Amino acid sequence: FVIPDFLGFTKDIEEIYWRCKTNTDGKVASYIPQLARVSPDYWGVSVTTIDGQRFAIGDVHVPFTLQSCSKPLTYAVALECLSQEIVHKYVGQEPSGRNFNELVLDHNKQPHNPLINAGAILVCSLMQTLVHPEMTLAEKFDFTQNWFERMAGMENFGFNNSVFLSEREAADRNYALGFYMREYNVFPEKTNLRECLDFYFQICSMETTADSMSVVASTLANGGICPITEEKVFRPDVVRDVLSLMHSCGMYDYSGQFAFQVGLPAKSGVCGGIMLIIPNVAGIFAWSPPLDICGNSVRGVQFCKELLNVFNFHRYDNL
Ligand code: GLU
Repeated sequence: FVIPDFLGFTKDIEEIYWRCKTNTDGKVASYIPQLARVSPDYWGVSVTTIDGQRFAIGDVHVPFTLQSCSKPLTYAVALECLSQEIVHKYVGQEPSGRNFNELVLDHNKQPHNPLINAGAILVCSLMQTLVHPEMTLAEKFDFTQNWFERMAGMENFGFNNSVFLSEREAADRNYALGFYMREYNVFPEKTNLRECLDFYFQICSMETTADSMSVVASTLANGGICPITEEKVFRPDVVRDVLSLMHSCGMYDYSGQFAFQVGLPAKSGVCGGIMLIIPNVAGIFAWSPPLDICGNSVRGVQFCKELLNVFNFHRYDNL
């Protein structure tokens, strides 16, 4: 086993879990009513090791929408289907140093990276125009959902239609980003911007649980092979690219500090989820809706930091 004393490991996780539970700081996302209504008390942590051992505590079976936690997943599918060369003709690899939905492009007039809104919308346009352009919109949705499920060991991904409708309704900034990018000819030629943004909102509105997302995280921790089904979902070079950008750009405007203090690739979303990858060991998903000013889950960030106080998982520990 990759974690020989799994029981001891889970005891530590449990202790950290209970300490974080008493932290009631932060505010639930309120830009759409469906998110504003979610209970701030939800708190769940799920762990899946690369050899398939699983542990979960708290609200790990309550569904939530992926929001920005979907961004590394879509990026991975685009890389797998298209190659790094093609994807990065359109999008950079640099932290933006600005808000996740800031109306800003890099000096090439391209999105800074695929893990902020501009870059994720761009990746959606690649999925729509370059990956199976012959598919209908419905088939493209099914195709993407199926990829996500394969990463999750065939656990279920649903779709929250009211979140989708609200996202689309409250999307002035994302439309602005889309038009701004179109002004600079950032998109592939055949892009239909309205369809592309719809696809982006649909992916943000896919719904799953912390338990299933920990399997996704473990597939990334395991170089692209799902530990539960043993399916080879991604090439190792795809996973390397995804983890590199999660490491530098995954935690909004806290990415630099997170990389310094925790030293592991992660991605958070306004749903209150944090997907944490411990390469060659395990994937962890922590979910709790109250967010700090950067947009990261308060309990989730505390959990990651406390985990690193107990275990030397930081990339530069043990040198
Ligand atoms: N649907 C949200 C948006 O595009 C995602 C935000 C997030 O999780 O960062 O604004």
